[in-house]
Amino acid sequence: MAAQRDYYEVLGVSRDATADVLKKAYRKMALQFHPDKNPGDATAEEKFKEAANAYEVLSNAEKRARYDRFGHDAFKGGGSYQNAEDIFSNFSDIFGDFFSGGGFGGQTGGRRSRNTGPARGADLRYRTEMTLEEVVSGIEREIEFETDSNCDTCNGSGAKKGTQSQTCGTCGGQGQVIARQGFFQVATTCPTCHGAGQTIKEKCASCTGKGRVKAKRKIRVTIPAGVDTGTQLRVSGEGEGGYRGGPSGDLYVEVQVRNHERFEREGSHLYAELSVSYLQAALGAEVEFASIDGNETVKVPAGTQPGARLRIQQRGLPILRSKGRGDLILAVDVTIPTKLSKDEERLLREIASDRKEDVLPPKKGLFS
Ligand SMILES: [Zn+2]
Ligand SMILES: [Zn+2]
Repeated sequence: MAAQRDYYEVLGVSRDATADVLKKAYRKMALQFHPDKNPGDATAEEKFKEAANAYEVLSNAEKRARYDRFGHDAFKGGGSYQNAEDIFSNFSDIFGDFFSGGGFGGQTGGRRSRNTGPARGADLRYRTEMTLEEVVSGIEREIEFETDSNCDTCNGSGAKKGTQSQTCGTCGGQGQVIARQGFFQVATTCPTCHGAGQTIKEKCASCTGKGRVKAKRKIRVTIPAGVDTGTQLRVSGEGEGGYRGGPSGDLYVEVQVRNHERFEREGSHLYAELSVSYLQAALGAEVEFASIDGNETVKVPAGTQPGARLRIQQRGLPILRSKGRGDLILAVDVTIPTKLSKDEERLLREIASDRKEDVLPPKKGLFS
């Protein structure tokens, strides 16, 4: 066996390190060389044990004082850790933080599996459709759904009223059994109670022993103005019911805004097309347009070109959780008449002639 390294050197701390510094250094090393992380690595395993031995001595004021005076000679003939199981059981308070929920539940004690104590219910997601008009005003919507909740008859135990569930004999109520796999201890779900930690002789009639019942929920949700597809609203405490007295999960209402036949949306701005005649475009006009709020008089300036954009401020959508509003942007479409009356044609030909524009000659009538 190689000569023992200095304990301070092993943990990489100075000789006057405080208890906190020692603990931190040890935690770091223990995690780095933990056998779970280094399967089959004998060197890591050695380092892991070496660190544990060093910490065992230095974390104890009396042993540390002896070690400082006499070095390794102070502990000749015993006291050192030879296997990982001893290390886990002695330093469970340190490892507990790191491996909670993992494979060492039986060692650290005090922890309860998810299946035996109160636990929070799951979050639920509910999708709801809205029209663009509803986005402008915001709405209240009643939504209805079914979810699991705690069985109040047996308070989630699954045992018949007046009877009690019994602590599982296989796992002693832990819900897990510890199996040894060579160097390690591995916790697996108890095959008898499937993790519940309890067994039931007589089942609760309300929930047939499951401890859970289906419940219909009906709630009113206020959806504010300005939401968009993908907006999520959290309704606290309206998700799946809790387990054995635990709190309910949350409900997430996800909004889906239906496409509108006349408006395109971009954030809080709305886009639409405005049809004007060639005369209105040339001479300017005031035209009616049905905006998302109702009728609007839109001023089309003289000389407006096809495709020109007219911006009407504050006639878009409300901005979520703000007093502001987006704009309405109108793309001008200029319509040209497909048929002209005789008078119209005559007048237009006069204009064309005044402006010296080449146009096709008048069509010859069949009988003229
Ligand atoms: Zn029940
Ligand atoms: Zn069990």
